[in-house]
Amino acid sequence: MPKILVLPGDGIGVEVTEVTLEVLATIGVNHEIQIETENELFGGSSIDVNGVPVTNEVLEKAKSSDAVLLGAVGGPKWDNLEYEIRPEKGLLALRKELGTFANLRPAVVYSALNDASTLKKEIIDGVDIMVIRELTGGIYFGTPRGIEKLPNGEERGINTLLYETSEIERVARIAFQIARKRRKKVTSIDKANVLEVMELWKKTVTRIGKDEFPDVKLDHLYVDNAAMQLIRRPKSFDVILADNMFGDIISDEAAQLTGSLGMLPSASIGEEGAIYEPVHGSAPDICGKNTANPTASILSLAMLLRYSLNMDEAAQEIEMAITNVLSKGYRTADIYEEGTKKVGCKEIGKLIIEEFKNQH
Ligand code: NAD
Repeated sequence: MPKILVLPGDGIGVEVTEVTLEVLATIGVNHEIQIETENELFGGSSIDVNGVPVTNEVLEKAKSSDAVLLGAVGGPKWDNLEYEIRPEKGLLALRKELGTFANLRPAVVYSALNDASTLKKEIIDGVDIMVIRELTGGIYFGTPRGIEKLPNGEERGINTLLYETSEIERVARIAFQIARKRRKKVTSIDKANVLEVMELWKKTVTRIGKDEFPDVKLDHLYVDNAAMQLIRRPKSFDVILADNMFGDIISDEAAQLTGSLGMLPSASIGEEGAIYEPVHGSAPDICGKNTANPTASILSLAMLLRYSLNMDEAAQEIEMAITNVLSKGYRTADIYEEGTKKVGCKEIGKLIIEEFKNQH
């Protein structure tokens, strides 16, 4: 029986995860599959009880589960703690334990929300992009690094961009595998015209594509051009593959095409497991008001079903249910506009479940 470790965390993380678990319960019934879930404390809520943001026991459970479904962590209550026991440290420890080297961030524009984007309707209608960012290497981790004093009194800042072939190969394989489940196109982003590391990146991605995924179309863009094309012709992208730093920037740019933080799911895939979580944080400003948008969390569950449990059909049904609820005009406060029907976190969850059930 597949096993999911559920870490709701803090703030609205708890509220949206509760709704997502109701969706999961319906999937179990509709698809006649039993999925075991176990809830654990994480982040601030774990600090309150255990004195640390994540216990070793929870890290072990994460490793032995098929996937982790996470809410969000943090909040003003824990902001003044020492850096080492802050809620965010729990996230870093979990990612490290599972060796999550690939971060997946879809950017999907729902027709019903076309007006929420800052770009023109005709440019963004139908956009469906998956950004895959390398997460454990590159310039954010390379050494030597630091700021040093020079004899002449000046200071010098140093960071090191480095990638080994195997690091590029494994993230490239994830990108090609995911493209196979989509429209079979990968755009690899680099700056091979000025950086040797990126020359290796481009060469390695090309070889993996040619040798192992000849059915997937591969093209390459320099990062500056990619940033422009993403707002000029976003519909032409399917899967975007990028290193840690370029992926950091490009994934936020792609997210901005869609409108709201409450609609953005993510996945981090590793050697020892995978974490699925909304992109947003614990939103202390709206916590406890039943106004949070649970869609990002529910879409994270859809990604979990697709990529960790191979339940593509159930994932598609969830996505369709969300599209239908939006088309019928229901909105949480963050995406509300005049003429639509405002509903709360729990209510939109129920509407999504109803739509999901109707597909059976
Ligand atoms: P945030 O994402 O929590 O909130 C930013 C704004 O977006 C807020 O106005 C919030 O109300 C709104 N918002 C976010 N998610 C929403 C949703 N689902 N529905 C409706 N509105 C939503 O970012 P922040 O305010 O910068 O951070 C708050 C706390 O969350 C901090 O402690 C921060 O460290 C933490 N954080 C955690 C994660 C994580 O767990 N992965 C990510 C980002 C921030």
